[in-house]
Amino acid sequence: MKISHFKVTPFSNPFVKALKTSGMTYTHREGVWVQLNYANFAGVGEASPLPGFSTETLKEVHYALEGFHQAIDGEDLDCEELFLLIGIHSQNTPSVRFALESAIYDILAKEAELPLAKYLNSNAASEIAVNGMTGIHLPGDGFTIMKVKVGFRNLFDEIENMEYLTQSFGKEIQFRLDCNGVFDLPKAIRFCKEMEKFNIDYIEQPLPAANLEDLAELTYHTEIPIAVDESITDFQSAEKIIDEQAADVFIIKPMITGGFTECKKIIELGRAENIRTVITSTLETNIGRSACVHLALANDISEACGLATGSLLNEGKPTQPIQSGKISILDGNGLGVDL
Ligand SMILES: [Mg+2]
Repeated sequence: MKISHFKVTPFSNPFVKALKTSGMTYTHREGVWVQLNYANFAGVGEASPLPGFSTETLKEVHYALEGFHQAIDGEDLDCEELFLLIGIHSQNTPSVRFALESAIYDILAKEAELPLAKYLNSNAASEIAVNGMTGIHLPGDGFTIMKVKVGFRNLFDEIENMEYLTQSFGKEIQFRLDCNGVFDLPKAIRFCKEMEKFNIDYIEQPLPAANLEDLAELTYHTEIPIAVDESITDFQSAEKIIDEQAADVFIIKPMITGGFTECKKIIELGRAENIRTVITSTLETNIGRSACVHLALANDISEACGLATGSLLNEGKPTQPIQSGKISILDGNGLGVDL
């Protein structure tokens, strides 16, 4: 495969409403789109590290892409060599790995005349269950699982908020409580005890990312399944979580953990250990989000995923339709989206 064109397009897209998580406020989503051309096919991918979550900077992204471009420029390489070079040039930039793997698979799937998920897995479904988000999605939008940001109110207000949400959405709706690592162990134990009376699917990252020992301890104090998000940064970190028996659910962000190859390894590891796996976006634009949807489908993920984040950004582009709490892939081969 000889790549004839290599294009990097920086973007900065405004959020519809500024987003706040513990300690961070986001007004724009920044990153780069990558386009690779081979024969008559164009493949696209997105590298957009999220400040506060990702460890690499946008500058490092540009350097890594430039290094990869130099390595492949004018060369006729087979797929194995291409993926090897992607690995070499994205060792500390998982977002670059995700973007380049997306673009190459986009090309290969288009060549095979298949949607990307079906190219990687002929049994892949065309739609995936997704969770809604309180504050964005409403009762009646068709979601059966809602994500709630917690950990920034006092405990009485947290309880009141959950009573209100249960009343609005209904008792049959499950909630995922995302704490973004704000509690210490005694506070997490208290919080979980108070949440057990609600219909909780899991509690996400109740303790700081590196605090696996206390996460393991917390599992002895509550019935609520414990999910890790910020704790998973790559395959090694996932192995460590399993060694420490620190979680029941893996939340995998392809932009953080680095693309199709690494995510597949983590998903298979989780599966072998009876760990539930959820794929979530990192608030990417349409290109990155589509890649996440195809990645989840290609790996037969059955959990509702955190991929209904399209409405947070002002993009003015077609987005994957969400109906009855499910996202369908767009028509067409490959990723189904263009630059
Ligand atoms: Mg989270």
